[in-house]
Amino acid sequence: MDKQECLDAISILGAGGFLERYKPEIRKELRSAESKVVWIHGAGCSGCTMSFLSADQELLSTILERECIIYHKTLLEQSGFFVDGVLMRDPELDIEYYLEDIEKTGGYILVVEGALVEGPANSGRYCLIAGKSVRERIIKAAARAKVILALGTCASCGGVPGDRRSENVVRDFPGVIFRGAVERRIILDEHGIRKPVINLPGCPPKPEQIMALLALLLLDKIRFPEDSGLLDEYLRLKVIKGG
Ligand code: SF4
Repeated sequence: MDKQECLDAISILGAGGFLERYKPEIRKELRSAESKVVWIHGAGCSGCTMSFLSADQELLSTILERECIIYHKTLLEQSGFFVDGVLMRDPELDIEYYLEDIEKTGGYILVVEGALVEGPANSGRYCLIAGKSVRERIIKAAARAKVILALGTCASCGGVPGDRRSENVVRDFPGVIFRGAVERRIILDEHGIRKPVINLPGCPPKPEQIMALLALLLLDKIRFPEDSGLLDEYLRLKVIKGG
């Protein structure tokens, strides 16, 4: 199952048809896949995670059993263990310290779900996880990622939180690269991070689109920079545009 065969199948059969047709091969390859996923939430409703969980259950089980996802606050909760009133700062007991270890190693697929949060006054402190701003977390994780998947409309361009007709404009919710449909926001560039980004818009994207794209990335069927031509001007994979 080479890259071109996968892309041709998706463009002819659609993401769902591709998964159905190639499920045995995908599951077999996933069992020996080396790539890992770090999945960080910004400002969103977790509907993208729910959509992913609604994808083909055999493929989902394979991904979870093989521990392809190594950080996800909803799926892999393990944090805040106290012993005798003292918080254990141990990667084995607290996923936050585990993430610090993962970031030192690098080379993972970073999935961003939800918008980044800039406000107030560019501090990012309107959205915190364990005391750290989500924006800071995403920038830090992006620095060691091999590719970033901006999952859903929120992460792609701001989405519902980024609606600029409301008071949200004060809070400032951009996507990873875009804010709105045309304005380009170079948060990563501002921090000297030059990583490939794939946008998969949709609120949420369809389960089979998320699963197919994640499978392509986990199986290294898409690599950068050589596969940059597979993306359109909005950084969507041309054969899986979301929506
Ligand atoms: S894109 Fe839609 S479904 Fe996904 S986190 Fe944002 S609001 Fe929720």
